Amino acid sequence: MFKAILIEKPEETQSVSITELSEDQLPEGDVLVDVAYSTLNYKDALALTGAAPVVRRFPMVPGIDFSGVVAESNHPDFKPGDRVVLNGWGVGETRWGGLAGCARVKGDWLVPLPEGISSKQAMAIGTAGYTAMLCVLALERHGVTPEAGEIVVSGAAGGVGSVAVALLAARGFDVAAVTGREAEAAYLRDLGASSVLDRSELTGKPRPLNKERWAAGIDVAGSTVLANMLSMMKYRGVVAACGLAAGMDLPASVAPFILRGVTLAGVDSVMCPKPDRLAAWQRLASDLDMAKLEKITVEVPFEEVPQIAPKFLDGAVRGRIVVPVTPELG
Ligand code: NDP
Repeated sequence: MFKAILIEKPEETQSVSITELSEDQLPEGDVLVDVAYSTLNYKDALALTGAAPVVRRFPMVPGIDFSGVVAESNHPDFKPGDRVVLNGWGVGETRWGGLAGCARVKGDWLVPLPEGISSKQAMAIGTAGYTAMLCVLALERHGVTPEAGEIVVSGAAGGVGSVAVALLAARGFDVAAVTGREAEAAYLRDLGASSVLDRSELTGKPRPLNKERWAAGIDVAGSTVLANMLSMMKYRGVVAACGLAAGMDLPASVAPFILRGVTLAGVDSVMCPKPDRLAAWQRLASDLDMAKLEKITVEVPFEEVPQIAPKFLDGAVRGRIVVPVTPELG
């Protein structure tokens, strides 16, 4: 038996409980993993609160990611004792996820944890940090270099934003961190931001084109924030868009694309092909300052997960939350 968080929806409203499950209740898969750590991402908060239809099947063990140690494997790439990390693939949405002592998954979904990243650090990074890395890689793929000019990051004090600021600064980029929380300015400068802007600079009614300000951007907000960011890109600027914290809509015009050659690069972490995942985790191992990661991470006890989740939806969580499940696994 192992502990697990379970979301059930017998009728109209869903309920969340902490319970015990047994291995024979787990879904099919060729690798059984003992979960060391999980985490809370924005999407987990949506799942746990029921604020959006993230969970597609009930009952569901939430948790879109986990790190741990392989217990049993019928997959050629993994053997018992291997340290692994999993992000996405519908885990915690359509398949039982990481907020449980054990998870059975497809071995094809697992990434071997790179040397230099512990199970705890892997979940301090979590899907938010891995997505931040995918965003940085998307900018690089489109030729963005530190010489091009300042990079703007929205939702900078959140999970994706905090890791993105740290990664870009470590790579030598000047970073303009956009936040709705003035009190987090010192935190963002400590992560490496060269300037901190109030979110209101990106929430006015978007104009087709605005004064050119940034060489590139990473956006976690969508909606008006992304529309304004696009309108303020320099000629041939690139925006990596990954989130919807402000909304799903995009009230923009084509002007930045057809008059300034701006590129809008979409970033999805869930179905991202394995070679890109491996590259992202390798770059996290080489680029991310683990001392900074520790500073942006708070540990929340497993039992408190249901109470913490709603704070995400208020935009009140700073940095990353890590959840120890079986931390003695190391
Ligand atoms: P967090 O809640 O940790 O961070 C989101 C941040 O966005 C907040 O901290 C806040 O930062 C800012 N924010 C909140 N509300 C608004 C608003 N109305 N307008 C503008 N900014 C706002 O979430 P994560 O960092 O984990 O995730 C960020 C987004 O990225 C989410 O929408 C999530 O679903 C998405 N995501 C997408 C992935 C993908 O595969 N495409 C993978 C991972 C995440 P501040 O106070 O500093 O302004």
